[in-house]
Amino acid sequence: MKDYLNRVFNQQHTPQSQPIAGTNQIPNSAGGYTWAVSEWERLNRFLILGSESGSYYASEQKLTIENAQNVLDCIQKDGSRTVAAIVEVSDNGIAPKNDPAIFALALAASLGDENTRQLALAALPRVCRTGTHLFSFVEYSKGMRGWGRSLRRAVGTWYMGMDHRKLAYQVVKYRQRNGWTHTDTLRKAHPNPINEIQGEIFKWVTRRDQITWKAQPEKPDNDALAFLWAFERVQETDDRNTLLKLIDQYDLPREALPTEWLKQAAVWEALLEKMPMTAMIRNLGNMSKCGLLIPGSRAEKEVAKRLTDPVLLQQARIHPIAVLSALRVYAGGSALKGKARYDPRTVQDKDWIPSARVLDALDTAFELAFKHIEPTNKRTMLALDVSGSMGMGMIAGVAGLTPRDGSAAMAMVTARTEPNYLFTAFSTEMIPLKISAKMRLDDVVKAVSGLPFGGTDCALPMQYALKNKLEIDTFVIYTDSETWFGKVHPAQALRDYREQMGIPAKLIVVGMISNGFSIADPNDAGMLDVVGFDSSAPALMAEFARGSI
Ligand code: CA
Repeated sequence: MKDYLNRVFNQQHTPQSQPIAGTNQIPNSAGGYTWAVSEWERLNRFLILGSESGSYYASEQKLTIENAQNVLDCIQKDGSRTVAAIVEVSDNGIAPKNDPAIFALALAASLGDENTRQLALAALPRVCRTGTHLFSFVEYSKGMRGWGRSLRRAVGTWYMGMDHRKLAYQVVKYRQRNGWTHTDTLRKAHPNPINEIQGEIFKWVTRRDQITWKAQPEKPDNDALAFLWAFERVQETDDRNTLLKLIDQYDLPREALPTEWLKQAAVWEALLEKMPMTAMIRNLGNMSKCGLLIPGSRAEKEVAKRLTDPVLLQQARIHPIAVLSALRVYAGGSALKGKARYDPRTVQDKDWIPSARVLDALDTAFELAFKHIEPTNKRTMLALDVSGSMGMGMIAGVAGLTPRDGSAAMAMVTARTEPNYLFTAFSTEMIPLKISAKMRLDDVVKAVSGLPFGGTDCALPMQYALKNKLEIDTFVIYTDSETWFGKVHPAQALRDYREQMGIPAKLIVVGMISNGFSIADPNDAGMLDVVGFDSSAPALMAEFARGSI
């Protein structure tokens, strides 16, 4: 009888292969039991982490279908809250990629009720800020709803509501994507221009052969039209000085230039003057390869200065993942060249010698790209799940960046902020980890990606701290919550730790995969779920550790 009672009602210690009695735990994909995150938390995970490379347990298609179903559940429950969540993530640059937000917005605009559809279409300019975003939206919508009147009107409004000079820039910089061009979308939406200038820009897109001013030696008076005129000039000129002058006078982007010019240092130097931050971060290799961005150069100084400017980073909505991705490629000294997986360790032929100053600046930029955090001064254990499942898939489509590598980089942000931190790693045992807050990010990622793989027991960090009498206020576990191995659930291990150490320790679970699981007990106020690579996650974690939320 006693055994029977123990087995059913002993909630202190339950193997992870069984649910804790009296809770609503569900099986995860690994055969263990964890809690389901709410549909809103899962929506956030999807908007931030996407599903594009799948996970260890689910293909990309399966994960996308699951997440799409979850978005639909949210839309059905509360359409306006769903649209607000999409806008929040997209407009604030919280996610590494905008695609999941665009996809979710297209779902809301196609399959929501009347009110939701209107809200979603009204949010179009805030979520789809570039031509590329717009093309993705119409491509998704095409599959979901086709071109109805309200979609035509919303796309038309996207063009009509934009400042002329900005629109001219959009139609030059983002000329096509996903099989769509501005000619296609403008012809479909057929907006009535609000004035003559806008009419000329539309006409330049849809009937360029009928534009009279494009070949004239004199530029048009209006600056938006003059920009298009300058674009026409650079297509024709074979004189470098003329080209450099046009770039300088009209702030032409790289995309406006015929590609043969993009091998010359002088051309890149002219482009760099007004180059948007995102383009600069993506083209560090190109600028080095052509001989512009080399050690000791003026360009090196300028690039390093911009990369460490928090205001510029914020204005351009630079996401930490974009910086990390650039750091890995740039440090490797070689472009991707169509390789499916990029691994700096195996690159043989160098296209450029990376500048140490730029590498350091990128390392700083990574931290600056997160929302600013103040140290909590809490005793913090950063525990990385380095089990097999964390080594599959890619974060935000960054080649070779697995959830395991990404979580190490993310943990660095907290490690560099907190004076009392401890790095640990685990699978079914604790794994020795030789990284510190002083190391550069690409080296940290390298160190972590070389660790062995194993099964998963997310209770280990708390058990390890208890066994060694380590005083910890905040456990931070970076995981996919696919835990199954341990004799005790992580939430129970935390309660053991609190009881026996007399410390009201907290647990933060950083979810690195857009699945629906968490080891955090939703009924325990001392446990919190955050989404990995949410650029505001470290700040949120600090607030929770401090006790202010
Ligand atoms: Ca695992």
